[in-house]
Amino acid sequence: MNTYGLYLHIPFCQHRCAYCDFNTYARQESLLNAYVEALCRELKTVAASSAPLQVETVFFGGGTPSLMQPAQYARILETIARNYRLKPEAEISTEANPGTLSPTGLRGLRAAGLNRLSLGVQSAHPAELRLLERSHDFSAVIRSVEAARSAGFDNLNLDLIYGLPGQSLARWEENLSWALRLSPDHLSLYALTLEQGTPFAHWARRGLLPPVDPDLVAEMYTLAQERLASLGYAQYEISNWAREGKHCRHNLIYWRGQPYLGFGAGAHGYVPGLRYSNVLSIRSYLARLQDGARPRTFPLSPAAAQRQRLAPADETEEFMMMGLRLTHEGVSATRFQQRFGQTLEDRFHKPLQRVFARGLVEWVNFPDGPHLRLVPVAYLVSNQVFVEFIQTHR
Ligand code: SF4
Repeated sequence: MNTYGLYLHIPFCQHRCAYCDFNTYARQESLLNAYVEALCRELKTVAASSAPLQVETVFFGGGTPSLMQPAQYARILETIARNYRLKPEAEISTEANPGTLSPTGLRGLRAAGLNRLSLGVQSAHPAELRLLERSHDFSAVIRSVEAARSAGFDNLNLDLIYGLPGQSLARWEENLSWALRLSPDHLSLYALTLEQGTPFAHWARRGLLPPVDPDLVAEMYTLAQERLASLGYAQYEISNWAREGKHCRHNLIYWRGQPYLGFGAGAHGYVPGLRYSNVLSIRSYLARLQDGARPRTFPLSPAAAQRQRLAPADETEEFMMMGLRLTHEGVSATRFQQRFGQTLEDRFHKPLQRVFARGLVEWVNFPDGPHLRLVPVAYLVSNQVFVEFIQTHR
């Protein structure tokens, strides 16, 4: 039986942050109840279109999933438990904004079955949080972490952003130190990217934001790597660090090229040979999932708006791009061959020659045989490696 990760997209936010290009909408909370019901219908429809589906992870992402009440999480999780084979040890995560969590709410989330919490901290500094248009301050982060620990969350991630306009190395180090004082189990650190169509990109084009020096961003990354290694956090992905046993199992499904099903407006899913995504707008999503909506062939739901068949050659490229993000385990040559029926060396002979010649990758022995992975100096230029493995068959 195939095992899946389930991704549930909750596209509601109190306010739209200036740098954000996620599929999310402000001031639509009046639709939240109807949205939860539609999500449950979508979960049931997809489950009914297949043999029993085993579920390893459930991830509530957004948007701001923590705008939902614990009873709404519980309703969705009960629907999953009734319609899927949810493993007893499944990882059940939610993203949350620090300002949206109360001690009672956090206890409610634990009681509903959530066992991992990912807090969007982004910065500890008031001016940076204002620049990002985040509505919380760092004292809300401290309160949320304390309340989460008291509620029994022993798997806690903090997200931080570095490379902000005007941010110095010292300021970034302060942010990191503040976050580390909270002793998270996992850290995701992302360099700010200016996404097209966002106010940030617009301001940057008009010269209203100081340009960010890429060398400084690289120094910030290196500083974080050193600090986190000295405190016993293992880097396992280009932007992710974890204490022993606290890797994000849901994200590992993406990086290992395993199947996942997406639910909700704008959610993406993948099963071998097919990638798909749902309609973006909340109202269109609700309309497509009204009672009596026609079921479709697994894994599509009535909300699916795009689908792309993947040729085996596309899949091998995707597998490399995602797997090489895993800085420790990389891509297993054995798994590659089992999955695609050809050796990694046969499929990517020339790209491998090029990335080895540039000293960007290495072979490392694991119990199941050799794994190909980036060398540490390549983490900062990983796109130069990925690009070698894509469009090799067109
Ligand atoms: S809270 Fe997160 S998802 Fe919502 S607008 Fe801000 S960055 Fe985007």
